[in-house]
Amino acid sequence: MSPFALSANDAVGIGLLAALGLLIVVAGVRLARKKRTAQPPGMPARKPGVEPRPAAGAAAPEPARHRAAKPAPPPPPPGETPAQAEARKKAEYAARKEAERSEREQKAREREEAERLAREEAARAARDAEEARRLAQAEEQRRIAAEAGKTLAAGLEKTRGGFVARLSTLLGGGKPVDESILADLEEILFTADIGVKAASRLLESVRERVRSRELHDAEKVRGALRAEIRRILSLDGEVRGEQPLAIGAARPWVVLVVGVNGSGKTTTVGKLAAKLKGAGHSVLLGAGDTFRAAAGEQLEIWGARVGAPIVRGKEGGDPAGVCFEAVQRGAAEKVDVVLCDTAGRLHTKAPLMEELKKVKRVLAKAAAGAPHETLLVLDATTGQNGIAQARQFNEALGVTGLILTKLDGTAKGGVVIGICDELRIPVRYVGVGEAVGDLKPFDPDAFVEALFT
Ligand code: GDP
Repeated sequence: MSPFALSANDAVGIGLLAALGLLIVVAGVRLARKKRTAQPPGMPARKPGVEPRPAAGAAAPEPARHRAAKPAPPPPPPGETPAQAEARKKAEYAARKEAERSEREQKAREREEAERLAREEAARAARDAEEARRLAQAEEQRRIAAEAGKTLAAGLEKTRGGFVARLSTLLGGGKPVDESILADLEEILFTADIGVKAASRLLESVRERVRSRELHDAEKVRGALRAEIRRILSLDGEVRGEQPLAIGAARPWVVLVVGVNGSGKTTTVGKLAAKLKGAGHSVLLGAGDTFRAAAGEQLEIWGARVGAPIVRGKEGGDPAGVCFEAVQRGAAEKVDVVLCDTAGRLHTKAPLMEELKKVKRVLAKAAAGAPHETLLVLDATTGQNGIAQARQFNEALGVTGLILTKLDGTAKGGVVIGICDELRIPVRYVGVGEAVGDLKPFDPDAFVEALFT
């Protein structure tokens, strides 16, 4: 046996040592792998208790809220039977669903509350805006209605400078009354646009009293004329003070405004609307002057200024139809007053009076008792023609009130004396300019005063 020959025991020992070495290598490799997975290469060593931040681009970890919402189920109690485990899982499931349902309901309630608050806020803002608009409009209406305009005396300046000035010159200074003065008086009165009838009445009343020696001097004659004119304008005492358009109980109170073209109807309707609105009435305008496109536009401007809605027909359309629609709408919208403008001239050959009679009949069908007032607008500058017009309109339509416009532009204002004497219809307003305040309620005393100052 060679001295290097291994015994069986030696071989076993070497084998054991080799196996032990192999085990140590394997264990070393596993440890190294474990360390690699726990700490990526290049990363600083993790401090205990500090969560690692996700690498850029890596999916974020599930939010804590969700993790909190799904707590790990408690460990099954020891010794739980399968049936008990089944029942426990069902109970856990039901509890989870109930929690989800109440969370959903809570969110819905919060959403509804937020929507309700938003709706309330929007409604409040709309109410505030409407109130601001209403106040601004009321202020504008008050301003328009309160426009002072010219004084009556200023509006009658030309008439005062006409026949009234001639009377004053003739009858001033207290000179004795003789035939020549009476002859001059006759000439002045018969050329004064007050109409033959009124001139005769005035002259007769003076002659009578001169004859009976009641009137001695010219100044007294002047006073007597003034008193007689006041009597005529007050319709022999029937009218005391102002008699402006009165709004009765019927709703809507329907006012028909008539007159020849250019007399000032549309302007007067606008001014009246402003006055009525200023007095607190709701007003609707009927643009029955379908002959003039400008009349509809003019009325629309007035409506917008004073806050009155308007019913407008087609140009050249049926005026009666427009007025009917205006009254119907006024009734539906519970408006206080419907002011119906009308044409003063027609497209057709049909006589104006026949067409206006039709408007009146149609209005009566639209509302019981309508029109409640028929106002005739007369242009004072037409002088005695106005008396003839008034007679014609009154015969056809039964005029209940007069409005005499443009007194500021004429010396023929005496026409109002002739109209009152002949027709015995109350004068409601006189126009002395284009502003709302220039439409003055007519007061016989104030008129005579303004005429003779
Ligand atoms: P309509 O054809 O009868 O509707 O007449 P308008 O209303 O269109 O009026 C004709 C013109 O007369 C317009 O220029 C008005 O401004 C004017 N007018 C109306 N009333 C008066 C007034 O009292 N004085 C003055 N100076 N002009 C007036």
